Amino acid sequence: AAKRQGRDTLQTYTPVLSEQTLAKVRMAKELRLAVQQAALTVFYQPVYSLHTGRLSGAEALLRWRNQAGEWISPADFIPLLEESGQIVPVTDWLLGRALSHLRTWRQSWPDFRLALNISAISMQDRHLVNSVERSLLRHRLEGQALELEVTETAFIRDPDKASLVCDELKRLAVDLAVDDFGTGYSSLIYLKRFAPDRVKIDRSFVAGMVNSPGDQALVRAIIELVHSLNMKVVAEGVETQEQLQLLQQMGCDYVQGYYCGRPQPEEAWVNVVPNLFTHRPLVDTWQGLGQ
Ligand code: C2E
Ligand code: MG
Ligand code: MG
Ligand code: MG
Repeated sequence: AAKRQGRDTLQTYTPVLSEQTLAKVRMAKELRLAVQQAALTVFYQPVYSLHTGRLSGAEALLRWRNQAGEWISPADFIPLLEESGQIVPVTDWLLGRALSHLRTWRQSWPDFRLALNISAISMQDRHLVNSVERSLLRHRLEGQALELEVTETAFIRDPDKASLVCDELKRLAVDLAVDDFGTGYSSLIYLKRFAPDRVKIDRSFVAGMVNSPGDQALVRAIIELVHSLNMKVVAEGVETQEQLQLLQQMGCDYVQGYYCGRPQPEEAWVNVVPNLFTHRPLVDTWQGLGQ
C-alpha cells in the first residue's frame, strides 16, 4: 500500500516536475552540443586604473548564442555547466582561447592583465593549477599577466582544498581576486586567510552609491578595509560619470562597467579607449542582449 501511495504521489507531481526538468535537460543537451561545436565565445570588458585613467586590462566573460540565436547569460548557463561536469573542460578551453588573445594584447600593451572567472568547483582540485601552468607556458606568458576571480563561495565549499589551490596559483605568480565582494558570507575571515591581490566590489553597491547613503558608506568602508590589508579595489558595474567621480574621490583603484566600456568580442576592441581621462568612452559601441 505504501508503494502504491508513493506511486500515486509521484503521479500527482510528475507533470509539473517534468516540464521544468525537461526544459532544463533540453538546455543542458543543447549546451553540451554548443561546447562540442565550439559555439561558446568569449567577450572582453575593459578595466581601467582610476589613478591614471589608463587601460589596465580586461575581464573575460563567457557568451553563448543558442540555436535560436538568443544570447544566454552566463549567470543562467554556468550552473548548468557545473552540474553536468562541463565546467572543467569549458574553463580549459577558455584559458587557451583567452591567453592567446592576451598574448597578442601584451605585444602592444606590455602590462595588460586578463581576469578570468573561476567556478567554485574548479577551486577544489589541482587540475586548474596544471591547466593554468600549461596554458601560460604554451603562450609564453608570465603569471602576473593573469588574474583569477573567485567568489566567496569558492572558499566556503572546502576551505582547505581552496587554500591549497590558492597557494599553488600564487607559486605561478598568478593574481587572485575576490569577485562580487559583499554579497557572500564570512567575507572578512576569507580575506585574511586567502590574501587576494584584489577585491571586486559587487555592482549592486555601485548602483546604489549615488542615491543611497548606506551603499555609499559601504563602498567607502570596503575601500578602506581592502587598502588597510594592502590589497587593491576594483569597482564593477560603473554606469555613470557620477559613480566614476565618487569612486575616484574615495580612492578606488580600478573600475569597469558600461560607462567605461561594454563586454565585446576581441574584434571590437579597436574601439576601446586607451585612457579614460583623455578620451571620451564610446559607451554604446556594442550593445545588445547578453552583454
Ligand atoms: P561577474 O564576474 O561579476 O561579471 C560581471 C557581470 O556584470 C557581467 O555579466 C558583465 O557583463 C556585467 N556588467 C559589466 N558592466 C556592467 C554595468 O555597467 N552594468 C551592469 N548592469 N552589468 C555590467 P555576465 O557577463 O552576464 O556574467 C555574469 C556572471 O557569470 C559573472 O559575474 C560570472 O560570475 C559568471 N561568468 C561569466 N563568465 C564566466 C566564466 O568564464 N567562468 C565562470 N565560472 N563564470 C563566468
Ligand atoms: Mg568576474
Ligand atoms: Mg563580479
Ligand atoms: Mg557581479
